Amino acid sequence: MRPFTYTKPKSAADAVRAIAAAGPGARFLAGGTTLYDLMKLNVETPSSIIDINSLEGLSGFDTSSSSELVFGAMARMSDVADDGRLVRDYPALAESLWLAASPQLRNMASLGGNLLQRTRCAYFRGGEPFACNKRRPGSGCSAREGINRGHALLGGSNSCIAAYPGDWAVALSAFDAKVDILGPKGERTIALEDLYREPGATPHVETVLEFNELILRIRVPVTPLGRASTYHKIRDRESFAFALASAAVALQMDEDTVRDVRIAVGGVATRPWRARAAEQMVVGRALTAQAARAAGEAALQGAIVTRDNLFRKELGARTVADALMIAKQRAIRR
Ligand SMILES: Cc1cc2nc3c(=O)[nH]c(=O)nc-3n(C[C@H](O)[C@H](O)[C@H](O)COP(=O)(O)OP(=O)(O)OC[C@H]3O[C@@H](n4cnc5c(N)ncnc54)[C@H](O)[C@@H]3O)c2cc1C
Ligand code: SF4
Repeated sequence: MRPFTYTKPKSAADAVRAIAAAGPGARFLAGGTTLYDLMKLNVETPSSIIDINSLEGLSGFDTSSSSELVFGAMARMSDVADDGRLVRDYPALAESLWLAASPQLRNMASLGGNLLQRTRCAYFRGGEPFACNKRRPGSGCSAREGINRGHALLGGSNSCIAAYPGDWAVALSAFDAKVDILGPKGERTIALEDLYREPGATPHVETVLEFNELILRIRVPVTPLGRASTYHKIRDRESFAFALASAAVALQMDEDTVRDVRIAVGGVATRPWRARAAEQMVVGRALTAQAARAAGEAALQGAIVTRDNLFRKELGARTVADALMIAKQRAIRR
């Protein structure tokens, strides 16, 4: 047994005070579906747990405003995925939640915790004796020369090629989402895209959050691109599996021509990956199958393959191309 202290504050301010007092070894506990897993594997060994399940005002969400969608950090994945307005007006966001994990997990897992889930790299989760710079800085990376079928092609470094496994953050990055954060110095807001760091030489530092900062909510600007959007996820089996490649696409068309488009890719990168070069390939043009394919290739521009993951370069390009065509069908129908 590893001892740890446990506290359950009632307000966000108290939670931040509690974690600041407990020090960098402390962790917030939301649904526990990542944290408990990693504690059982001895990968996370927190000295203190600050349970944020009773915090006031963080469990709700509102998709009815005309300016922005607001999601409390403690809203559960299943409740949000089921929201009628989200399903109708932002299918990519709803689908990114529906296609994740399993019903039991989605009932427990929070939106804030989902953003901060950690990689599924088996060497990271497997613990000793595997070298892993993310788990033990400076120890090396077993995946670079090891089994790396599921590892990242984009955004990796010599120190780490672990893929970011989540779906929700990929869809959010296509919609220019923002994250409100509370820390000891007060509240700040950052773009969702800026939350994540590429591994570089410090893969154990995954986000720009300080240990004592709490995600309060996620905000998404209202946009007409939402309606013709999709989250397309390719995996080894049709349910309860992480993405081998995924794409979030949102479109606005004038007849056959793309007026505006957002593309983000998942599963293939070390962080949620907005594919702006791919967006440039299709905006202002007719969206043909060839144009979609070219955009898919642009999205994977700069991909570096390792021993086992060459197939995912092609898969990633096809996933983006297919997502564009699905979104086009939705644009035509509406
Ligand atoms: C078998 C399995 C399959 C899965 N499949 C998928 C999948 O296909 N797609 C997908 O996207 N996800 C998948 N997941 C991941 C799952 O969605 C995440 O574990 C879940 O969303 C995390 O939310 P949580 O509330 O349980 O977080 P927790 O486990 O409680 O916390 C996760 C981390 O975030 C921190 N944290 C939590 N909330 C906050 C906050 N508000 N502010 C600051 N820090 C916070 C915690 O300290 C912890 O470090 C899967 C998980 C499992 C176990
Ligand atoms: S890819 Fe990253 S997480 Fe996986 S073993 Fe290498 S350093 Fe660790």
